[in-house]
Amino acid sequence: MSTFNAPKGTYDLLPPDSAKFLAVREAIAAPLRNSGYGYVETPGFENVELFARGVGESTDIVTKEMYTLTTKGGDELALRPEGTASVLRAALEANLHKTGNLPVKLWYSGSYYRYERPQKGRYRHFSQVGAEAIGAEDPLLDAELIILADQAYRSLGLREFRILLNSLGDKECRPVYRTALQDFLRGLDLDEDTRRRVDINPLRVLDDKRPDVQKQLTGAPVLRDYLCDACKAYHEEVRELLTAAGVAFEDDVKLVRGLDYYTRTTFEFVHDGLGSQSAVGGGGRYDGLSEMIGGPALPSVGWALGVDRTVLALEAEGIELELPPTTEVFAVPLGEEARQVLFTTVTELRRAGVATDFAYGGKGLKNAMKSANRSGARYAIVAGERDLAEGVVQLKDLESGEQNPVPLAEVVTTLLEKRA
Ligand code: AMP
Repeated sequence: MSTFNAPKGTYDLLPPDSAKFLAVREAIAAPLRNSGYGYVETPGFENVELFARGVGESTDIVTKEMYTLTTKGGDELALRPEGTASVLRAALEANLHKTGNLPVKLWYSGSYYRYERPQKGRYRHFSQVGAEAIGAEDPLLDAELIILADQAYRSLGLREFRILLNSLGDKECRPVYRTALQDFLRGLDLDEDTRRRVDINPLRVLDDKRPDVQKQLTGAPVLRDYLCDACKAYHEEVRELLTAAGVAFEDDVKLVRGLDYYTRTTFEFVHDGLGSQSAVGGGGRYDGLSEMIGGPALPSVGWALGVDRTVLALEAEGIELELPPTTEVFAVPLGEEARQVLFTTVTELRRAGVATDFAYGGKGLKNAMKSANRSGARYAIVAGERDLAEGVVQLKDLESGEQNPVPLAEVVTTLLEKRA
């Protein structure tokens, strides 16, 4: 029988690389935790209708990329393709918006699923860390979120990313623009699928990556020219706040993003070292989404950053994260009695908070020392019959090679002092 492989478009996270993923998740979450965002966790699947309504019937995500299933009980579910609709659903369901404490600020981290054509940076299972500020219309919040994402990326050492910024207008000005854009697009030479998109969601045609389409889009009406005064003022304030915070951005009048729910502020973080899948994260304001999924009017803003692509961006910039060694002390027993005694010491060290590992499986000294070195531990504790007879273990500094006997009863305190 052949062995199983991970499903197409997925990959496994294994040590040592998996540590990088954890560190990236942590680095993105840290500024959020520090800014009043509370952790939220929602199920990996939802009723399919939530995404159909929330993300948009005409989006690629809903029409082509969703993993849907019918349960034995007849429920129509979908593996979550994104986080915002679920988080908003959870906040509404728990009435978080009724506590009188708006905005409700939440962050999340988890797995998302899209049936996409796999390539580097584009997978069928991927990880995002996201943040949502629900229930307030305030340009400070839009700016806050962009500033926090920028801070997260910078804390990882990333430099070659850019922030693209646009405003998509609101329910006053966007319809006027939409009609003007449709008039323009209907005069172009487009395939049937794209013509249908012109009818349903013309703004998304601007996002078409195909060069022949892009070429035809020169001279298309630009949303910026149609923004109403309120949207213009809002956008200008977000821009000023970012500038004041020293966060560089580029105005990108064509940025529309692939989800239907965005209004006003939209942004994308792109990394120049990633080739075609250059978007490492994105988000924006979604003032209409709550009503679209049956809730009250709750203007909100959020983003999601892709963990997989952020790790690729680190690799593209040649950044090695300084991760603390997973193991600090490695125990090497020589003989059966030493196995018992050292295992007890290992347990004590662990209980004292020292990351400790053990040469299992009755390895010889040479192999056991190899394992000790490979573990990244700074210290080895080695003990044989003679050491135990003297009531000591040998404490070896694996960096300098220096070795000294330490009374068994003092191993924990000695190591705690050394690492302090
Ligand atoms: P989106 O919800 O499409 O705006 O995605 C937000 C971020 O999630 C993107 O910028 C990517 O970093 C990441 N992402 C989205 N789809 C995928 C995918 N199929 N594979 C890997 N990362 C993805």
